[in-house]
Amino acid sequence: MKEKLQKYARLLIEVGLNIQKGQNLIISSPIESAEFARMCAVAAYNAGCREVIMNWKDDISDRIKYLHAADDVFDTYPEWRKNMLTEHVKGGGALLNIYAADPENLVGVDPNRLTRFEKVTGQALAEYRQLQMSSAVPWCVASVPIPSWASKVFPQADPEEATDLLWDAIFKAVRISDETDVVEEWRKHIDRLTERKDYLNRLNLKSLHYKNSIGTDLVVELPEDHVWAAGSEVAKTGQAFVPNMPTEEIFGAPKKDGVNGVVVSSRPFVKDGNIIENFRFTLKDGKIVDVQADKGADILRNAISVDEGASYFGEVALVPCDSPISNMKILFYNTLFDENASCHFAFGQAYPSSIKGGEMMSQEELRLRGLNDSITHEDFMIGTEDLSIIGTTHDGKQVPIFVDGNFAF
Ligand code: ZN
Ligand code: ZN
Repeated sequence: MKEKLQKYARLLIEVGLNIQKGQNLIISSPIESAEFARMCAVAAYNAGCREVIMNWKDDISDRIKYLHAADDVFDTYPEWRKNMLTEHVKGGGALLNIYAADPENLVGVDPNRLTRFEKVTGQALAEYRQLQMSSAVPWCVASVPIPSWASKVFPQADPEEATDLLWDAIFKAVRISDETDVVEEWRKHIDRLTERKDYLNRLNLKSLHYKNSIGTDLVVELPEDHVWAAGSEVAKTGQAFVPNMPTEEIFGAPKKDGVNGVVVSSRPFVKDGNIIENFRFTLKDGKIVDVQADKGADILRNAISVDEGASYFGEVALVPCDSPISNMKILFYNTLFDENASCHFAFGQAYPSSIKGGEMMSQEELRLRGLNDSITHEDFMIGTEDLSIIGTTHDGKQVPIFVDGNFAF
């Protein structure tokens, strides 16, 4: 186990972030996974990192705060916190986010506090997020099990067993095994994703039509000069990095006002420590005009109302049913894993890299080119085993993109 963990830590530092000599690194980690976070710090120093700064997270303290802190706490974001993150990225520092949380940590908390705090956080961290989303520095999101999360994924198992099962699933998803050279596995994986992405870019589609038996019937226009991305990216610091580990998606952005129809969720969506289930959006000219949900409708309605752009889509991502994570048939209640098991969209901010040269454009230029702008960005899953996606080219030709939940090419 220890060997596997070290392999994983090195994978995140050397392939995920590709840390360079003299670079600083912030590691955000739940306190439950301190041991693994420390292993990542050692791997980073071994790779020449200048200094590792630990940014600890604790679900339970968060919950206590949401329940008991003074009300105005949720209308302010501390300046020192904003500076810590923004100055770090401006100085070329890398970011490792070990993302694991109890998916129901904030059930029963006043939703109004959640929304208000998301708004002030979004405003305070706008520059930081803009730098991150336009790949100013390498960043990587990965996960390790914590007991509360593991028990939600494997409710029948006792906590220790659940943690072991979740470790197995995570190792499988990030292609770590005793036999294989993980760096070589990742190289091959990224090559395969790149081939598909290149094919989609050559097609230069005008729109995508999604349909399945649970009620999705949605047409998504793509902006002019759109670019599909997948696997790895190059940061402005010149470093190739892999923002998500695992990653199975090929993603781009829709034209903000060009999404019409109905889209139905296929997996639960975890937002602010609450689970939202069986929901559907109706969209007109890009805007979500109706929301229905069996569970968590209020949380969902708040989430798409934090600003104007929150009720428009900012990401369209293709993930085949026949992918390693999806084939495990596990509901992870963790966006990093669920989004890489299913076709999805995100409401909120679009990645600037979704159009040619977008990383060099101002927010205003990106808006004029049809990309959405928001303080939020939330992926939600819609892929099913009978999902069909038909592409239409600018000269009106129809090209099958997905047949029965998988790529048609
Ligand atoms: Zn995505
Ligand atoms: Zn996303």
